[in-house]
Amino acid sequence: MKLQIRVSALLWIWGIFVLVPREMAGQSASNAGTVLYNDSHFHLTNYIQEGISIQKFLEIMGNKVARSTLFGIPLQQQWSYQNSGNFAPGYYLQTDAPLYYYSFTDAYIAMQYRLLSKEQQSRFDPMITGFNPADMYAARHIERVLRTFPGVFTGIGEFSIHKEFVSSKVAGEVASLTNPALDSILEFAGKVGLIVILHNDMDMPLAKQQSQPAYLEQMKEVLKRHRNTTVIWAHIGLGRIVRPVGYGSSSPDERFPDHIEIVREILEDPAMSHVHFDISWDEVAKYLVSGPKAIENCTKLMNRFPDRFLFGTDVVSPPDQKFYLAVYDMYAPLWKTLAPETSRKIRTGNYVRLFDIARQKVRDWEKQNLLK
Ligand SMILES: [Zn+2]
Repeated sequence: MKLQIRVSALLWIWGIFVLVPREMAGQSASNAGTVLYNDSHFHLTNYIQEGISIQKFLEIMGNKVARSTLFGIPLQQQWSYQNSGNFAPGYYLQTDAPLYYYSFTDAYIAMQYRLLSKEQQSRFDPMITGFNPADMYAARHIERVLRTFPGVFTGIGEFSIHKEFVSSKVAGEVASLTNPALDSILEFAGKVGLIVILHNDMDMPLAKQQSQPAYLEQMKEVLKRHRNTTVIWAHIGLGRIVRPVGYGSSSPDERFPDHIEIVREILEDPAMSHVHFDISWDEVAKYLVSGPKAIENCTKLMNRFPDRFLFGTDVVSPPDQKFYLAVYDMYAPLWKTLAPETSRKIRTGNYVRLFDIARQKVRDWEKQNLLK
């Protein structure tokens, strides 16, 4: 009898360690069933480098979110007294004063991460963002950060090339898709195994319907030049006032297919099999679930390419869990129509597959290169 009890106890313990899927790693088994998503796109700090602590974020994640990326915003919004006097701008739309690259964000993120226990750390994938993508020295900054904070980072980004009002507000040379500095960054990321989150509006703000998306061809050329680099194109190339291609000419619902077609062509192209899309940001969700036709088109595309989309919030320093889960809730109509396996992959599975591979590659690179 005693032996029987011991055997069954051992079996039960074995069951916990083997059967809990990887994406719950770092999550206590009892919460396994309640996890909604892994967040492939999360900002701990805002445009004035302020935000909640990582402990507060862990609380907000609770047992609803198992894993999350962790990055700040690589740009500081300057508070120019000449421009806004005593009014302290907290966002880039609140002043005409410029934005400038803020490299200390990487040290801040690394030190927040280092405050955690090993188990807590396993739930996060810190990302390097504090570099100027128009600088041929940017790749050296990324390497310096890896050497200064070994064992911390999994990838680079979110960093931006074309981003509505932001790009033109950045002090210094404007970043571009044809700048070889971007190639050197993506080249280095591919060599190390760093996963890349790239924000690049596919089109210009408030573009006229029938026009070819302004930045699509250049973006495809960049992506094809770096096939060894795992890239996540943030927001499916959409943005606040960067609407889906073809959007708005007749009923939004009807015209939306154009953007879907463009994304489908990219997903079908073997030269871009290293390209993934995140559907983060409420400004993106508003388009993807804008009506039954849009939901149907997204569902068809995602069910066909379930491994190539990742959910993310793009939330910046949330005050509480309700606020943090809002983007996920906006997608409720889509979670309903997607095939269960597609939904699981987009919400949790693809994150684990891509970020675990990147983590391992970066650790291996560090092992091989840090002594040099
Ligand atoms: Zn973002």
